[in-house]
Amino acid sequence: MDRASAEKRVVELRENINEHNYNYYVLDNPKISDAEYDRMIKELAELEEAYPDLVTSDSPTQRVGGAPARGFSAVRHLTPMLSLSNAFNEQDLRDFDRRVRGGLDGSLVDYVVELKIDGLAVSLLYENGLLIRGATRGDGELGEEITQNLKTINSIPLKLRQFLPLMEVRGEAYMPKKEFARLNEEREEAGEQTFANPRNAAAGSLRQLDSRITASRALDAFMYSLGQVEGFSVEGHMEGLNKLKDLGFKVNPHIRVFSGIDDVIDYCREWTERRHDLPYEIDGMVVKVDSLSRQERLGFTSKSPRWAIAYKFPAEEAETVVRDIFVRVGRTGVLTPTASLKPVKVAGSTVSSATLHNEDIIREKDIRIGDHVVIHKAGDVIPEVIRALPEKRTGTEKVFSIPGQCPVCGTKTHKPEGEVAVRCPNDRCPGRRREGIIHFVSRNAMDIEGMGPSVVTALLGAGIIKDAADLYYLKFEDLAGLERMGKKSSKNLLRAIEKSRSNSLAQLLFALGIRHVGERAGKVLAAEFGSIDRITKASVEEFMAVPEVGPKMAESLAEYFKDPASLELIERLKKAGVNMVDETQQMVDRPLEGSQFVLTGTLAGYSRREAQEVIEKLGGKVTSSVSKKTDYVVAGDDPGSKLDKARTLGVRVLSEEEFEEMVKIPE
Ligand code: NAD
Repeated sequence: MDRASAEKRVVELRENINEHNYNYYVLDNPKISDAEYDRMIKELAELEEAYPDLVTSDSPTQRVGGAPARGFSAVRHLTPMLSLSNAFNEQDLRDFDRRVRGGLDGSLVDYVVELKIDGLAVSLLYENGLLIRGATRGDGELGEEITQNLKTINSIPLKLRQFLPLMEVRGEAYMPKKEFARLNEEREEAGEQTFANPRNAAAGSLRQLDSRITASRALDAFMYSLGQVEGFSVEGHMEGLNKLKDLGFKVNPHIRVFSGIDDVIDYCREWTERRHDLPYEIDGMVVKVDSLSRQERLGFTSKSPRWAIAYKFPAEEAETVVRDIFVRVGRTGVLTPTASLKPVKVAGSTVSSATLHNEDIIREKDIRIGDHVVIHKAGDVIPEVIRALPEKRTGTEKVFSIPGQCPVCGTKTHKPEGEVAVRCPNDRCPGRRREGIIHFVSRNAMDIEGMGPSVVTALLGAGIIKDAADLYYLKFEDLAGLERMGKKSSKNLLRAIEKSRSNSLAQLLFALGIRHVGERAGKVLAAEFGSIDRITKASVEEFMAVPEVGPKMAESLAEYFKDPASLELIERLKKAGVNMVDETQQMVDRPLEGSQFVLTGTLAGYSRREAQEVIEKLGGKVTSSVSKKTDYVVAGDDPGSKLDKARTLGVRVLSEEEFEEMVKIPE
């Protein structure tokens, strides 16, 4: 390419990449796959290498991550949090080894090899053994302060197991695959946009202004490096990781040390095969020089250390054909267009259908029936069409549009304002009913083992059940009479149904499949109201008064419990002996019943969520602002204006010690 064309292309690539960086880092909503993004970066880097005078300091090849978002305070990292340079094949790893040895004495190097977890880098700062600050990487220099949100991750210690004056530790916060699938399903049902991958889902969850939302998502974190430390020193990276384990951090168990690059490559190969067996997504391996003095000798470029490299797994994509597009009707009525595909192997299994999410996405990606398409698995679990291959069209492909009527019951569909989804509004739609029962029996709901979608469909098809309550009236003959259902499995299934009668009220509330009511909301409502009878009688205002219930959920709850069909279902469940009360309220004493608390400042022994849970367990309530109704303000370190307000209103202020005394369970 001549210089003039290169210059034009460089400008074009930078503009595109900047746009994608913004979508990815700021909005947590990428529009292209990582592999496509990496290809653009590679092309830009190659052009800049061929024409070094085209390099500018603001080129995406010279910068790390994205700027901190507004709404969070920016924190300056004690030392910059850099990115990693990439290797895409074995040759790149060998070149890296050659560069490393060239910068040292040429002998064999000990490398630490780690899994590259697809989450987001975070920094935790401990002073005098206590967690005082948590931040995102941001642009490497400035990150976002997200201490409260990071405190909701249970594996992050609030206190080190050993006193240290100062320590900064870095690691990866991530969302496990199962949680990613659950969250996306919940979002799809609610008509919200789904997350593209677990990394964006984790970032979106940690960058919430309300840490209760973060707490409702099961995030986790592995720590993988030490920043500044006072109180001990180590000579090798692996030694540092072992020290982190001793201090109480979660360190990935698959980290290994190898001498020389050959074994490193073998280990990378091994994980390329085994990656799907993990409960979290990895997108590669990270190779680091073990000796810290050697790391220091090698130093850094402006963007990444010279002593480490990220080996990226090849993108797991496959080409196939869209045979048809059918519409699935979800339990809340959302119509999800789904591609029926020519079966193809991708990321460890054969895929024959993939979600297309909604009509906007089909249009944006211009996916047509008959198209050749490229697919992958989002978060290693959800099959998804990445793009169509229009160059392979023959002219027989058909443009798809969402039907104006529900494909199951024929009711006119509608698209609520502000939602991406089109819905079937008919509560009695058989399609919705089937999905509703499948949801009712699922793992996190009533957890009826053995009652899979095919059994539900068979029972509905044979007219044996009409709704979830009918499950509790099933007889042995009903089940044993179904095709492919043995005596033993029928017995086991009846036992599983029996067991589910004593499930918690929280599980039941989630299982009912009320719009906007997720698992967490089920727990909150159960704890707040204590019984289904009180819930069925509550008004929109009463629902709204519950700390975590917003207007949308409150309205949806009131509407659900007003409907005679819902009340009848509940009545029949009750008659069948299904538990309708919150057992936690029956068992424990509730000494704080009727007391309102407000939390301010940082408590040493509790995250906000933990403090709130303790109070609620004992019958108290936590609200966000101080009023005359507040009974106690619990003030930790650095309390905010709530403390002043409490003093002005004469509300009793509790120190952390006093609070602890109050919530202590008597011997
Ligand atoms: P990176 O993901 O290539 O590597 C650096 C990061 O790896 C670290 O910051 C850390 O978060 C992570 N990591 C995981 N395990 C680690 C371990 N054991 N040790 C050290 N680090 C570990 O670099 P990046 O700068 O975070 O992101 C660039 C990547 O993001 C691109 O390669 C691309 O795949 C993706 N991206 C995609 C889009 C898009 O639109 N699809 C846009 C921007 C960036």
